[in-house]
Amino acid sequence: MRVALVNPPWDYRNSIYFGCREPHLPLELGYGAALLASAGHDTLTVDAHLEGLSAEEAARRVAAFGPGMTVVATAPTYLFWRCAPPELRVPRAFLDALGTAGGRTVAVGPHGSATPRPALEKLGCDAVVRGECEEILPLLAGTDDLARVPALAYRRADGTSAVTGGPHASRFTDLPALRWPDAWIARHRHHHHRFDGEPDGPGAEVEASRGCPYTCSFCAKIDFRDAYRRRDLGILLDEIDGLIAQGVTYLYFVDEIFLPQAPLLDALAARDIRFGIQTRIDLWKPDMLDRLGAAGCVSIEAGVESLTEKGRAALDKRCRASTDDLAERLIRARKTVPFVQANLIAVAGDDPGMVAAWRERLRAQGVWANDPVPLYPYPSSPDYRRLWGEPDDEAWERAHAHYLGQFERFSDIQEERPLPLRELEAACGCR
Ligand code: SF4
Repeated sequence: MRVALVNPPWDYRNSIYFGCREPHLPLELGYGAALLASAGHDTLTVDAHLEGLSAEEAARRVAAFGPGMTVVATAPTYLFWRCAPPELRVPRAFLDALGTAGGRTVAVGPHGSATPRPALEKLGCDAVVRGECEEILPLLAGTDDLARVPALAYRRADGTSAVTGGPHASRFTDLPALRWPDAWIARHRHHHHRFDGEPDGPGAEVEASRGCPYTCSFCAKIDFRDAYRRRDLGILLDEIDGLIAQGVTYLYFVDEIFLPQAPLLDALAARDIRFGIQTRIDLWKPDMLDRLGAAGCVSIEAGVESLTEKGRAALDKRCRASTDDLAERLIRARKTVPFVQANLIAVAGDDPGMVAAWRERLRAQGVWANDPVPLYPYPSSPDYRRLWGEPDDEAWERAHAHYLGQFERFSDIQEERPLPLRELEAACGCR
């Protein structure tokens, strides 16, 4: 079968989305295309975001390929599945532009993973994959009987919907080394979350591990990227060496939690490459932080969240370090890593004066700590389930209204006032 895989042209106007707006490599589509190809299918991957295409241009390119199946992502790459735009207007606009020219239409992403039926309805597609999608796509391409494919919601011939099972978790460890077109890498000038200097060459995203052994209350990963898995180091280094050969000078590891791994750090140290990570600083001993910096790490984003042990316990962080220990490790990391950020979130009971003083203390040592931001209770997070139970068909609307009503001010990166979900989706065919 001919299969098209599409990252649509993301547009974040009036969205609560607070992630990075630059294009990043669509790893989930890359793995999907690789597994489809090894199962004998022909694939075309279109990244409208990276390639600067409109929905109509992307649809024309897909239609010219003549696929029997078209896959579209509902989040801007795996990097942002945990904080995706709640609205589905962008993938829906692409599907509307495509019409019937894409064959069977399939959506992949966090929306269908948590709430399959509303995702199916809002997108008007034929099927949505629940959970990590790459291993499910070859099964879909290999059958006409969708009832036999696991982790799926699909539309029956009579228009009703059916769900074949819960979200899928990929094996992940042996996902193949990804190769990207030279033209894509040349366009990828963005160095994600890097602030120590201007890009000196193309950037790229890679994945050394997936999932996380913790269950912080605010973290949207119950339905995907949950259990911790580490990718085979030989495969990962093969991918990294391919990227370096294409001129890449900076890698961003999309791993939920980049844990200390001496063989990987040694391998990175032996290569001419800089990189950025997100992690928990309490899991790094001082000597490993030094090794991380020596390996070429230039950006650390570390979730501290609350500045009190009580606050961190309320968020179920299971953090054994004291707030002073955390500060010490951040400062230690900053000795060898030029940009270190402590992420804070708005936690009831954290004293604003204490937060301001802590931020100032760290800033004096070169460590950036953000102004605490409110949390969005994503349907795949424990917080959502604590508030309202299992997600139902109104889960995203409920989470959205709660978020908009919770705080009067928003993160300073949200330039426009976020709109209610129904308004955001009203402009497209979602409603
Ligand atoms: S440590 Fe990070 S990735 Fe893991 S559950 Fe907590 S917030 Fe999520």
